[in-house]
Amino acid sequence: MSNTEESSLDSKKELDDYNMIEFSDCSLYYHQENTKLLVYDKFNLSINKGESVVLIGPSGCGKSTLLYLLAGLLKPSAGQVIVQGQKIDKPRQSTGFILQDYGLFPWLNVVDNIGLGLKIRGIHKKDRESVINKILEEMGLTSFARHYPGQLSGGQRQRVALARVLTLKPDLLLMDEPLSSLDALTRERLQNLLLEIQQREQLTTVLVTHDIEEAIFLGSRIIVLAGELPTRIIADLSNPMVGTENFRTTDNFFKLGVKVRGLLEGGRI
Ligand code: ADP
Ligand code: MG
Repeated sequence: MSNTEESSLDSKKELDDYNMIEFSDCSLYYHQENTKLLVYDKFNLSINKGESVVLIGPSGCGKSTLLYLLAGLLKPSAGQVIVQGQKIDKPRQSTGFILQDYGLFPWLNVVDNIGLGLKIRGIHKKDRESVINKILEEMGLTSFARHYPGQLSGGQRQRVALARVLTLKPDLLLMDEPLSSLDALTRERLQNLLLEIQQREQLTTVLVTHDIEEAIFLGSRIIVLAGELPTRIIADLSNPMVGTENFRTTDNFFKLGVKVRGLLEGGRI
């Protein structure tokens, strides 16, 4: 085999194994009144399989838009978004999306909210039950199985939302400020839970936050975005210590926090 053949095989293997997400010269504008707002202009970003990417940046800098593009809820005006080798122009089944406001149906109890996605996929009731029972236990929701969303705290609602997405076994999990309306302690508990799931499943995740500590606690890679449009990456930091014991209390954690804060302030948050 010639060298060129070998290297092209190598790069194909790399693509299959690692390159989960590719924004390739991706542009997107919104129509606003009589003008066009250019949010992304030939934007490029690659994300590997199993990475836990956190996007942090001031409000209005295009974070949610990036998730909508990845989820296939918005189409790029030019360029493309590729997930697992597929061009994304509509939602794909194995992408899970969790929003800030939980997205639960108030008229369904916890079990039915969690099981809805499985039901839509035509999974039989018996099989649904065993999946749901397992996840209820994992999320500490077993005793709330028959409660309705209105009877749950914010943290419990977000756990239901997470359970619903996880039952569908996504290979990509997108989260848009999922914990931002929770109190500090609940938030920390859910951060621990998210980290545990991410690490155990080696799930590729893209999480948007404007909380610096959350970014550092959850991101194996932290992408800092500038405050102005079109969206620009001002730093792409790797965080190899993520998930290590007592990470929150280490010097490393603190130092990275100072660095991210400095970058955000430099970008006029
Ligand atoms: P972030 O999530 O970082 O706060 P967004 O991605 O929501 O930012 O928004 C980026 C920019 O696009 C903002 O200036 C916002 O006002 C604008 N924008 C968002 N959604 C729309 C829309 N549907 N129509 C017009 N402009 C929008
Ligand atoms: Mg947003």
